[in-house]
Amino acid sequence: SKVRVGLLFGGRSGEHEVSINSARAIAKALSSGENQQKYELLPTYIQKDGRWLPQAVSQQVLDSGKPLPESASLADAPYFAADAATQVDVWFPVLHGPNGEDGTIQGLLKLMQVPFVGSGVLGSALGMDKIAMKMAFAQAGLPQVKYVAVTRSQIWSNPCVFPKVCDQIEAELGYPCFVKPANLGSSVGISKVRSRSELETALDNAASYDRRIIVEAGVTARELECAVLGNDEPKASTIGEISFQSDFYDYETKYTEGVADLAIPAPVPDAIASQIQACAIKAFLAVDAAGLARVDFFYIEATGEILINEINTMPGFTATSMYPMLWGHSGVPFPELVDRLVQLALERHEPAR
Ligand code: ADP
Ligand code: MG
Ligand code: MG
Repeated sequence: SKVRVGLLFGGRSGEHEVSINSARAIAKALSSGENQQKYELLPTYIQKDGRWLPQAVSQQVLDSGKPLPESASLADAPYFAADAATQVDVWFPVLHGPNGEDGTIQGLLKLMQVPFVGSGVLGSALGMDKIAMKMAFAQAGLPQVKYVAVTRSQIWSNPCVFPKVCDQIEAELGYPCFVKPANLGSSVGISKVRSRSELETALDNAASYDRRIIVEAGVTARELECAVLGNDEPKASTIGEISFQSDFYDYETKYTEGVADLAIPAPVPDAIASQIQACAIKAFLAVDAAGLARVDFFYIEATGEILINEINTMPGFTATSMYPMLWGHSGVPFPELVDRLVQLALERHEPAR
């Protein structure tokens, strides 16, 4: 009989629309070619307000590609449950950002005792929190930019503390530096700052998104990405490069069509590519990721230096997203990639004891 795949998409996140697009591509891959005989799709759409909607209406969202207006919320639909729940053999949470990529959904699925695609609670949480992530990377000996961790209360609660924090940032990092909410994605809440007053504004803004804030030394570098696939013995893909004209890879550059260019394979020396692949696998293991992750790097061409920027445990997954494109170029076509991810989830699942 077919393996029933519970596709979870949408979500209470700024990346809601991206998730719908990723889910559409994955649903298509699961119901075509050889996968059609192997898998049955049970979609569950999570609305922007966090409600889990029934299969029929979830399928409509998947077909249309458009989020359901909040007014269409089924008031009696339960939070955190799906009508499909008892029938699902394996969950595929295609959710990006907070409430989906950060370990929260993963904890819920773990409690359901059903296998799921991607990282578990620890890997997801470490991969989402840029401060915890950097601590894990440092422990693994991965090279990265200098940074300072700041809390919201240091910014908002005590007017005597705030100037000292800014002094520390200026002394340790200088300008330009990047101010980021620790637990977000898609560049939301991130500012590149070049002066004290910009720093103050950026810290205040980042604090409105998260209790935890990270400030990093800014580097001028090329941006390279590597896709990782597997569980305990993960493999790294060909390297890809992102390029753009804007000041940095901000939200608009990421999601406006034709603004950023992807080059696969990235035009870099072989030695750089293999160094990045080795670092990507190290990073994957350092945060205890599973199934898939995209690991992003800065490459300072002048010095040949490679710095790890971040890991994304549920990267964008549309047909034109970097993660599946990198595997496509590495000999794993989209439908096979999705099949492999489901099989990796089943392999990793530990039955309840
Ligand atoms: P997100 O998780 O939202 O993608 P990132 O940490 O990847 O956040 O930052 C988004 C973008 O900001 C990067 O792709 C890069 O263009 C720019 N950026 C972030 N940190 C730095 C840095 N320390 N130096 C230079 N550019 C940076
Ligand atoms: Mg990210
Ligand atoms: Mg990023």
